[in-house]
Amino acid sequence: MNTLYTDILIIGAGAAGMAAVLAAEKKGYQKILLAERKETPGGVLLQCTHRGFGLGYFREDLTGIEYADRFRRMLEKSCAKILNRTMVLQLYQDRTALLAGKDGLTRVCFEKCIMATGCRERTIQSLPVGGTRPSGIMTCGTAQKLMNIDKLEIGDEIVILGTGDVGQIVARDLIKKGRKVLAMIEQNDVPGGLKRNQEQCLKAFSIPVMLKTQITGICGSGRIEGVIVRHLDTEAEEFLPCRTLLTAIGMIPEREAAGKLLEGASLPDWFYLVGNCDYVHDIVDSVTADAFKLESVL
Ligand SMILES: Cc1cc2nc3c(=O)[nH]c(=O)nc-3n(C[C@H](O)[C@H](O)[C@H](O)COP(=O)(O)OP(=O)(O)OC[C@H]3O[C@@H](n4cnc5c(N)ncnc54)[C@H](O)[C@@H]3O)c2cc1C
Repeated sequence: MNTLYTDILIIGAGAAGMAAVLAAEKKGYQKILLAERKETPGGVLLQCTHRGFGLGYFREDLTGIEYADRFRRMLEKSCAKILNRTMVLQLYQDRTALLAGKDGLTRVCFEKCIMATGCRERTIQSLPVGGTRPSGIMTCGTAQKLMNIDKLEIGDEIVILGTGDVGQIVARDLIKKGRKVLAMIEQNDVPGGLKRNQEQCLKAFSIPVMLKTQITGICGSGRIEGVIVRHLDTEAEEFLPCRTLLTAIGMIPEREAAGKLLEGASLPDWFYLVGNCDYVHDIVDSVTADAFKLESVL
């Protein structure tokens, strides 16, 4: 197996990982290895065609793609060695990591490691929802990637479960593309998300929100035909026909590669978590700001 040596190993090249490279370089490190499992750096930013990124850091209203491009240009000028299409499988206590890339497995020996692996979405399987599991059900993030990166159709006559920022932004994207968003289902008595998204998505696009409701069942074989919606005030249930169900029901920090390192009461003094794999940030500026703080602790 090939072995690489580096001062700093950074895992994940989203907003957090890219800013972490710049922070480490500013601190004086020159041997920095950035491993990213996808083809190119950018992370979730690359599927965000909407504006609302960088108001803090760049003082401009950029799309996610534009925000990623600015950091990618800075990354290109940095001293970091970037390994795309490379997944970090496991980190070990002896400051080594096992990586899987296009040339097979590689062992990396490092002094410090920054984990910037982002988060993944909870799926419908994590909720007590009965009924069948036909096609036409996916998370909002997956729908956004399929539409904006892969240019694929995800379906029409859509119900969205959850009214957080991601759900609202995807609902707006869909309406702009001519799709029907029949309802957003929200168990609380107010919609979730940032005030600005409520204004720019729910209000501006008159997206129907069913408050104090939950989905208790899914109907259909082959393709989804509808969902059972329970009204929490009255306990009454209704059948809401739809052909697509998207979920926006929260994110889970992605830290599996850290394995046993996370079992102790505190993290090893050579290991750092940053960005959405530390905690889920509402806006990218906050991810970038956190990653830049690494300069003072590395
Ligand atoms: C739909 C949506 C809309 C948003 N809208 C806005 C907005 O309008 N304004 C705003 O400011 N913010 C917005 N955000 C939030 C912001 O985009 C994110 O908080 C930020 O980009 C997250 O950056 P990150 O680096 O922590 O995670 P990510 O971007 O998820 O990056 C993590 C990277 O790590 C890689 N990775 C994971 N595991 C491994 C591994 N084991 N080995 C190698 N690589 C790995 C992944 O492939 C990924 O590239 C939005 C987010 C979403 C999902």
